[in-house]
Amino acid sequence: MLRRGKKLAVLGMALVMTTSLFTGCGSSNGKTSDGKIEISWMASTQPQEKVIYQKIIKKFEQKYPNITIKFITADSDTYSQKLTAAASSNTLPDVYYVGSGDVRKWADNNQLLDIQKYVDKSKLDDMWSSALDSYRYDGKEIGKGDLYALPRSTGPFIMAYNKTMFEKAGIPLPDPKKPYTWDEFEQISKKLTKDTNGDGKIDQFGTGLAAQFSLQSFVWSNGGDWLDKTHKKVTIDTPEFIQAFQFFVDMQNKYKITPSISETQSLGGYQRWLKGQMAFYACATWDISTFNKSLPFDYGLMTPPVSPKTGKPATWIQSVGFGISAKTKHPKEAVEFITYLSADKEGNKEEAAEDLQMPNVKSVADSDYFSQTKPTNISEFKNAVENYGRRMPAEYTYTSAWYDEFFTNIQPVLDGKVSVSDYCKKEQPIMQKLLDDSYKQQAAAQKK
Ligand code: CA
Repeated sequence: MLRRGKKLAVLGMALVMTTSLFTGCGSSNGKTSDGKIEISWMASTQPQEKVIYQKIIKKFEQKYPNITIKFITADSDTYSQKLTAAASSNTLPDVYYVGSGDVRKWADNNQLLDIQKYVDKSKLDDMWSSALDSYRYDGKEIGKGDLYALPRSTGPFIMAYNKTMFEKAGIPLPDPKKPYTWDEFEQISKKLTKDTNGDGKIDQFGTGLAAQFSLQSFVWSNGGDWLDKTHKKVTIDTPEFIQAFQFFVDMQNKYKITPSISETQSLGGYQRWLKGQMAFYACATWDISTFNKSLPFDYGLMTPPVSPKTGKPATWIQSVGFGISAKTKHPKEAVEFITYLSADKEGNKEEAAEDLQMPNVKSVADSDYFSQTKPTNISEFKNAVENYGRRMPAEYTYTSAWYDEFFTNIQPVLDGKVSVSDYCKKEQPIMQKLLDDSYKQQAAAQKK
């Protein structure tokens, strides 16, 4: 759970930054003593990733002998603090990470360079368009307009299953072409929820999903959403939303296919999955490295279950990108560099071979490099990005307080102590007010 939480905290980092910290900035003189153009890049990397990036930098410097890269690394716990400090002390590096949900904030505060006129579009043809769209911003909406960053990674959140458990129970493996309906998911989960050692206590569960990360898939598949199409109205009180949320809650309280509250307190869902005590668990690209190394069983990937109402799957995709300081002295060279980081095929292959992420380049994801990793049906990540992935609701709005509010008091609902429909009806006006505030704050920031 720690690793999962940590990673997501990094992804959402700039959401906690206050606008007052952004007061213009500048890189250093931007030249080394031998007259080369220096581009500084601050990154948080895993150890294997650092080695790969060092190789990519070397290759880049060979290709562009007039440019030298100053590579600054920070661990994921301190990265966002360091970046915030750099922003407030006008020492932002030329290149830094921008979460897909944070483009608007960095751009509105004149910290993030509009790279549209510098980027060589022909180098982006082979990249996931949904990932690129996360970094487009037209001053009003995300997903349209000029590019402000290029993807470093794209992480769709799908589902993993314990293949060994299926085989032991004689249950056919999930069909990659035909996702389970909610009913099928519930029935198979029920079959796999059992007391395996006869001590009267359940020790193997169908599933155990965290609402913060998995409820979206159920709601969207049922035709519901947190916002309407204009992104200005909170829609958690619609029948589609409430019905999906009800099914999610029923998994624990009615179907009893997930650990109870007290069972979760003794051992969390993530730990149970890792130990082989859970049939289905949520899985993102950043989990693959850990799963491949530490799972004591075979696993596979699958489409999240679909609502019987639409039959259409859905999930969220989160991306981290390479952005450039708006005050860089060398925009052209910095863009050249992030294009190389994002789209270099060899670098993409090496990262995929280390199970670090899904390639940004489509043809690399189609090649053997990605399919050689361990789980059955690894290509489900591609399927999600191409066919059913979406942005998180709060990525469309200036602040996320309205969305966070939904999850703040959700526990009694998950535990069956508060009714789903009462909760949604009570929360809708509270969230709507916070959303309205978000639009007011955005208008005020843009007037500056
Ligand atoms: Ca038992």
